[in-house]
Amino acid sequence: MRRGRWILLADTVIGRATSPADSGGSGTPKTAPASERDASAPASAGANLIDGTALAKIIRGEVATEVQELLARGVVPGLTVVLVGEDPASAVYVGAKEKASREAGMTGETIRLPAETSQAQLLALVEQLNADETVHGILVQMPLPKQIDPDTVILHIDPKKDVDGFHPVNVGKLLIGHGDGFAPCTPAGVQRMLVHYGVETRGADCVVVGRSTIVGKPMAALMMQSGAGADATVTVCHSRTRDLASHTRRADILIVAAGRPRMITADMVKAGAVVIDVGMNRIADASTKSGTRLVGDVDFDAVRQVASLITPVPGGVGPMTIAMLLRNTVRAARRTLDV
Ligand code: NAP
Repeated sequence: MRRGRWILLADTVIGRATSPADSGGSGTPKTAPASERDASAPASAGANLIDGTALAKIIRGEVATEVQELLARGVVPGLTVVLVGEDPASAVYVGAKEKASREAGMTGETIRLPAETSQAQLLALVEQLNADETVHGILVQMPLPKQIDPDTVILHIDPKKDVDGFHPVNVGKLLIGHGDGFAPCTPAGVQRMLVHYGVETRGADCVVVGRSTIVGKPMAALMMQSGAGADATVTVCHSRTRDLASHTRRADILIVAAGRPRMITADMVKAGAVVIDVGMNRIADASTKSGTRLVGDVDFDAVRQVASLITPVPGGVGPMTIAMLLRNTVRAARRTLDV
């Protein structure tokens, strides 16, 4: 087992979203009442790009401020990430989490285990982290090697430290609307984007394409709750949905998490809809140095002409996921003070 402790002081910039780039898109989004809008939202959301990078920076700044408050009260928020094996993509994700945690001023630890680690060994480590008072958030990076059942591992994580929001206790709390659980980071980030950009969600037709446990299902659960950034009428589509376009065309808010490059075309989107593209697909592109390019599940250039607001890929939902992970970790640490 390789353990590398990384402790750095905050050097995070508390930023404000820059005006989203002008896109020439049609229409403006329906906006929520001013009282429900995020106070730090850009003054003009009329241009139609949702800038996830800028918003993530704001959230990371908020987290850094909270970290400083907790430090002053003697609590050092700590996130421990466990990586089993050498999957290159996972190593990149873990590195990004590590860097972001450092920048927010948290204490953290990355524990790297060999690919042949047994399930029993991993569970023993999780139990050890559950008992460690300096660890507030535990994240076991997926996917895991085939000898380890991910559901069993998730079940062993203390729900109070489950900052990924995958433990059934947190899933249940999300579904019944208990605010004291942890929502999975990607859907929570999407909801925060909608609030920040003043999108009227109340009564809106929200169509979620994808029903995975990490994105589609929790996304739908968040949007159907009562309250700010929610109160939507939610439809969930998946690979067995008949006539997908008939659903997506009705959407005021279309959230796509299918893992199918550019499957949502302009004719599938209602004029003026808000389109959130969670997809991250690497496709071949001979014109780039690496020979590949990252695209979303939405045909961005064409849909941008129809949508009132749209997230780009990259620079949309992606940066929000890590920002919300930091946010969940700070919340977990704060709870140890019962504040
Ligand atoms: P997943 O587990 O593969 O789930 C994909 C979902 O899309 C499934 O529910 C599937 O339906 C549905 N689907 C697939 N093809 C479809 C089609 N043609 N029509 C309608 N529904 C279809 O994927 P995931 O983990 O949710 O991830 C989805 C995408 O988001 C991926 O590109 C992933 O890389 C990306 N992602 C991004 C972030 C981020 O931080 N930006 C985070 C997580 C995931 P069935 O259930 O019927 O199979």
